[in-house]
Amino acid sequence: MPRIRSLPPLLVNQIAAGEVIERPASVVKELLENSLDAGARQIVVELEQAGIKRIGVRDDGSGIGAEDLALAVSRHATSKISSLHDLESVASLGFRGEALPSIASVARLEVISREPGAEHGWRLSADGTDCAGEVAPAAHPVGTSVEVRDLFYRVPARRKFLRTERTELGHIEQLIRRMALARADVGFRVQHNGRELFDLRAAPESEPLSAHACGERLQTLLGETFVQHALEVDEQAVGLALSGWVARPAFSRSQTDLQFFFVNGRMVRDKLVAHAVRQAFQDVLHHGRHPAYVLYLQLDPRQVDVNVHPAKHEVRFREGRQVHDFLFRSLHRRLAGSCEQGGAQARI
Ligand code: ADP
Ligand code: MG
Repeated sequence: MPRIRSLPPLLVNQIAAGEVIERPASVVKELLENSLDAGARQIVVELEQAGIKRIGVRDDGSGIGAEDLALAVSRHATSKISSLHDLESVASLGFRGEALPSIASVARLEVISREPGAEHGWRLSADGTDCAGEVAPAAHPVGTSVEVRDLFYRVPARRKFLRTERTELGHIEQLIRRMALARADVGFRVQHNGRELFDLRAAPESEPLSAHACGERLQTLLGETFVQHALEVDEQAVGLALSGWVARPAFSRSQTDLQFFFVNGRMVRDKLVAHAVRQAFQDVLHHGRHPAYVLYLQLDPRQVDVNVHPAKHEVRFREGRQVHDFLFRSLHRRLAGSCEQGGAQARI
């Protein structure tokens, strides 16, 4: 047996990258989450070769100061939590301080950022050969631009697992749909190889989740038929609020592709949630058909643990039974109500 030794930091980051950066869409997810956490209202995404050659994300958020730039790309460095207490009630999308160092260890990374009140911005480049980068002045409006080039160029084993450009772009598009549905109050513009994929205008801040504000975005992202069949959901119980839309059973799918469930603004794929929704639809959907929905559950962040998985797709509810019953009852009632109305037109 060789002696035990500590791994060099770059290798540690590359190992962590294996958990959070699976494909180009994971990079886009991490960068968009950072922009949203920074309070951005406008986000521009530019992609080349489905993000394998280049992913650029530009936001108008709060920016990063010169003295923090190097920290931003170092491991376990975050501005979002500072104690276990913070972790237990975390409301930001990120908090692990792993995304930027992970990306920097498997791709060429450049961050340019400017804080409000600063005279100019600062640039940091890291090329995956070490963990530090040079910080230099650069022109930039308030906010942050992150450029990721040549994903996995130093990790051929990972590169081999990339699918065709079309498949990888499909993953990115689905990811953008989720993020854009999570935050109707933020504008998203997405280009691929110079061609526009999405141009979603920001809804007014006062009503980001109302049918009125979301109508256009829902139509673009889920299609007109969904909107025509959409029933608005707005239910409350002690400490729990559910809003959004479910499609009438007349509009079901052979796949689960139009199922979006957000817990405190974070898209999750959760077994408990899926089960509650399936049960609510059980009597009204044929076997093998899947419901379509966009649902937002809000609850006290302390009632849900988001630190279950590095990529945070899963959550754990403290009162799982209560959440399950609330979802089931709310949706069941809504669907029953819609049948009694004899298929009246949806409100949006
Ligand atoms: P985390 O999001 O878990 O904190 P990241 O590695 O994604 O970790 O980012 C590290 C830090 O860099 C963040 O905590 C934040 O302070 C800063 N940062 C990253 N992206 C942005 C951005 N677009 N705007 C402002 N600050 C950012
Ligand atoms: Mg992050």
